[in-house]
Amino acid sequence: MVVRARTAVPGTECFARHLGGQERASFALDLTSDQRLTTNDRVPRMKIDILTIFPDFFRGPLDYGIVRRARETGLVEIAIHDLRAFTKDKHRTVDDRPFGGGEGMVLKPEPIFECLESLGDVASREMRLRAGAPQSVILLSAQGRRLDQTLAAELSALSQTGKGRIVLICGRYEGVDERISEHLADREVSIGDYVLSGGELGAAVIVDTVTRLIPGAVGNQNSTRQESFTESCSGQTELAGDGPSSTCVSGGLLDYPHYTRPAEYRGMEVPEVLVNGNHEQIRSWRRKTALAKTLRNRPDLLQRVRLTAEDEEFLAQIKLDQGTDRDEARPVSTKD
Ligand code: SAM
Repeated sequence: MVVRARTAVPGTECFARHLGGQERASFALDLTSDQRLTTNDRVPRMKIDILTIFPDFFRGPLDYGIVRRARETGLVEIAIHDLRAFTKDKHRTVDDRPFGGGEGMVLKPEPIFECLESLGDVASREMRLRAGAPQSVILLSAQGRRLDQTLAAELSALSQTGKGRIVLICGRYEGVDERISEHLADREVSIGDYVLSGGELGAAVIVDTVTRLIPGAVGNQNSTRQESFTESCSGQTELAGDGPSSTCVSGGLLDYPHYTRPAEYRGMEVPEVLVNGNHEQIRSWRRKTALAKTLRNRPDLLQRVRLTAEDEEFLAQIKLDQGTDRDEARPVSTKD
């Protein structure tokens, strides 16, 4: 992978990293011209900047599959910024002890503010907080709004403005000085109810889930519409061309099970319905199995989706088959 040098913040005395013989504060995850699928200079649909004390972490995770292809075709441009390059002491200190005492170290505010200011073209926090703003500066935090498919779609939609930009700030240690959340970031996002050692894995998760929803990133965009959690569609499968396209099957449920060749492997056979060519039976089997899997693994989702009369019938049948009752499957309330 070629790294493109960018100059450090003009006017600040940065102790820039020494990467590949060149001093850099930031580098773009870049490609050589023969890796680029299009040689055009068009503006990417989405710019993503990642602020981190471990820039090398990102060499790899964003270099495969859909994210790589989106970079190759110019749909996204990703730049990694080393927060240590925005320190001013010879030890390149990014953390300090917490005021008031307590465990661990806290990421200092200055390198983060200065790194963000060095990016250029990032709107003020006030502008970013306005409805329809094309940019978002996100602090990765276990205390943030939990990432889900709806939030991923919201962030991905920033690309539709043609000026979409997401900045991801990765915390470490005990966390980040709260002034980043209060005055710099416009939102905090958590990737789940658990504590990671740092925001880098979370940033990579956000890049992946947001990028694959940018139109053009996935070969067949319909496939992103029928995936687990995707709520924009009803439970109706569209019949397209030579069979059910499976579009819109999810409707906020978990995805239905998938099988491929061979039809029989070590005595395990794929469901007969999938090989008999009857599109209506396939559609109905997929819906029913999606409902069954959701009931089994994520019954909470059933409380949120709009179920059709057919769905209700399927569910009644599934519960009969499983000998379970929907009330039993409902998450237990502390009031019960
Ligand atoms: N003291 C913090 C707390 O209890 O919420 C945890 C700090 S954690 C060890 C260090 C950094 O990892 C955080 O600042 C954040 O950037 C990142 N992080 C931890 N858990 C995360 C999560 N679930 N989602 C996103 N980022 C997370």
